[in-house]
Amino acid sequence: MKTVNDFDFNNKKALIRVDFNVPLNDDLEVTDTTRIEAAKPTIIKILEDGGSCILMTHLGRPKNKEERFSLQHIVKTASEILGVNVKFVEDCIGNMATEAVSNLVPGEILLLENLRYYEEETKGDRNFAQQLSALGDIYVNDAFGTAHRAHASTAVIADFFPQNKCFGLLLASEIENVNKVLTNSQAPVTAIIGGAKVSSKITIIENILDKVDHLIIGGGMAFTFVKAKGGSIGSSLVEEDKQELALEILEKAKEKNVQVHLPTDAIIADSFSEFANTSISDAYTISEGWMGLDTGPKTNEDFAEVIAVSKTILWNGPVGVFEMAPFAEGTIALGNAIAHATKEGAFSLVGGGDSVAAVKKFNFTDRVSYVSTGGGAMLEMLEGKTLPGINAILE
Ligand code: AMP
Repeated sequence: MKTVNDFDFNNKKALIRVDFNVPLNDDLEVTDTTRIEAAKPTIIKILEDGGSCILMTHLGRPKNKEERFSLQHIVKTASEILGVNVKFVEDCIGNMATEAVSNLVPGEILLLENLRYYEEETKGDRNFAQQLSALGDIYVNDAFGTAHRAHASTAVIADFFPQNKCFGLLLASEIENVNKVLTNSQAPVTAIIGGAKVSSKITIIENILDKVDHLIIGGGMAFTFVKAKGGSIGSSLVEEDKQELALEILEKAKEKNVQVHLPTDAIIADSFSEFANTSISDAYTISEGWMGLDTGPKTNEDFAEVIAVSKTILWNGPVGVFEMAPFAEGTIALGNAIAHATKEGAFSLVGGGDSVAAVKKFNFTDRVSYVSTGGGAMLEMLEGKTLPGINAILE
């Protein structure tokens, strides 16, 4: 796996696909800088070698070059974070871009205008990719967030750099860390899959059954399993048409010697609200009119015991409606158990949108081994898919 560390960028122009698709507020200010910070090590390595950086990214989903999606809005923040005055050019291809690139000297950074101002980007247009490729000497992909897309700047462009292409440090570490769970794991391996729906996690579960010793299922999706097993779940979230699939998963897990852990008790509520009346119930005998919105204390203890003996831990999806304080305990207890196991030497990876949000909200970021930055890309890796952005560099 070639990374920027395998190249000397002295006097070279690195064309880097970054993921600066950051959130902006109504005043068009960056409200979360995580993604810019994540690309910094790659950029600094290239500058320190004596090279220059041409950064290309998309921002949002603009239609017809909408001004609010201009990358101009992030220049100031990027300059502050990177510690270098970032130059900006109002196009990503054509004369203006070419000229800005030719004026670039070692030590400088140039940010190109939004790639998605051209529909050719998402279409993976070869000609567009070729025009982009003309801007740099070495192509670097450091955009894990879009690695699952076969877009012009994420995959197609790599064809024009048969020798001079590599992974940025962020993308390389994402791949390495997922592989610590999927290919080079230390047993016992435990996956915790939570979140709302079985249907969105089914492929992940199927893929990881071959790789784990324990599967903990929590969140709204657990109730489809509980109901399929004959439990009464009141008005808890359920996907009626996925019950059979749930039983099949349990059967497959048994065949593969995977121990499945489902909630045995739940925090129930009489409405989906922070102000609902709540109670603790057996997960299999929830009364009509009540819904399970979090794992109960007994479940939290059981899950923590499994986690305590695990050497490799994957966490995807909260086990309760953690956005509301009365239903956050299960997710917090789980985070604490994972943090404790990590301290004792286990490797823990948190990946996928909402678990990352939960980890941030409850300050577990520094207490787990690795928090993945790419939501969809991470999920597809866990599903066992080959990501076009990664493949394009490896080929
Ligand atoms: P996902 O995006 O599939 O990982 O789902 C995350 C969402 O699942 C979060 O917004 C949680 O509030 C929600 N969730 C977790 N547990 C439950 C539950 N028991 N009932 C309904 N929603 C839940």
